[in-house]
Amino acid sequence: MEKSVETIRGDSEGIAYEFALYRISGTSSEAPSAYIQAALHGDELPGVVAIDALMPKLRKAENEGRVRGNVTIVPRANPIGANQLLFGASQGRFDLGTRVNYNRDFPLLDRPDTALLPGDEVPMSSDRRLKARLLKLSLGHDIVLDLHCDDEGVAYLYVPDELWPAMADCAANMGVDAVILWSGQSGSSFDEASLHPYLKMPRKEARLESRVVTTVEYRGVSDVYATVAEADAQGLYRLLVARGVIEDTWIETQKTFAGVVAPIDHIEMVPAPCAGAILYHVNPGDTVKAGAHIATIVRAAGEDGGRVEVLAPQDGFILTRRSHRATRAGDDLVKLVGVAPSSDARTGALEA
Ligand SMILES: [Zn+2]
Repeated sequence: MEKSVETIRGDSEGIAYEFALYRISGTSSEAPSAYIQAALHGDELPGVVAIDALMPKLRKAENEGRVRGNVTIVPRANPIGANQLLFGASQGRFDLGTRVNYNRDFPLLDRPDTALLPGDEVPMSSDRRLKARLLKLSLGHDIVLDLHCDDEGVAYLYVPDELWPAMADCAANMGVDAVILWSGQSGSSFDEASLHPYLKMPRKEARLESRVVTTVEYRGVSDVYATVAEADAQGLYRLLVARGVIEDTWIETQKTFAGVVAPIDHIEMVPAPCAGAILYHVNPGDTVKAGAHIATIVRAAGEDGGRVEVLAPQDGFILTRRSHRATRAGDDLVKLVGVAPSSDARTGALEA
């Protein structure tokens, strides 16, 4: 395994950002290659600790000559966002300088050619420079995994429509609970930018049936535990074995996914009807019936009628909920995966 350090020039003289990059050269040029990054949103750490737990397995496989395909790992993809604090609170989601989400506005290329990406000499802000660099590092890999997390939630994947059900084995081997299928545009998120050049190619050349591109939501932002990280690392490792990047005859891989699968327009982003304190009655992973109590909003503490009940708009599965307990009117309280399309389905990306 080779370590190198990538440098991103900052927005003023004397400022630069660095992140580590690890590469293993596979023994076969025919084998699929894999790229894994975590913490594109600078303060999302479940993927970082999963990679930390994965690395010893990769080193062992490499020492035993079992890594067939090239593997590239970026454990912390966003040093700019990781360094942003506002009055002590992490601000890893949006670039404070440009107000742009770190997982939006990636360059959409017409073919998988890094020469199309802006070089370091092009004058642009550091967040855009970072996005171009990450895309450059990931482009050309058959498997591209972008590890994120939600507020509080189960483990789930966003998978482009074009790659499903061919990616069902990935979901099964990773051990996630749910898969959300999306198509079209998602604001040029990293996964969209990773797949886009291949969708422009003739289908035969694009080899979509063997391509893996996914945004992985490793539960909630505070789900950072050694045991969970180890289980997630095993899931990532199983995927790499299943797809032939790594050889390991001891590992049992799976082909069929038994979890929840739904198109993105089935997600109900149930909003709060008023401001107040949230009392949740459901946990991520729960199944609910239409009309079930999802939450109570304490709008006016102690007053008659000061509580407002929030009900499930349809039967479904609780994918996520908020980690904070104060809400404004209209803020989303949960992502509920409905059995039918949502009546106010939103197009494009949700929040990843
Ligand atoms: Zn994220």
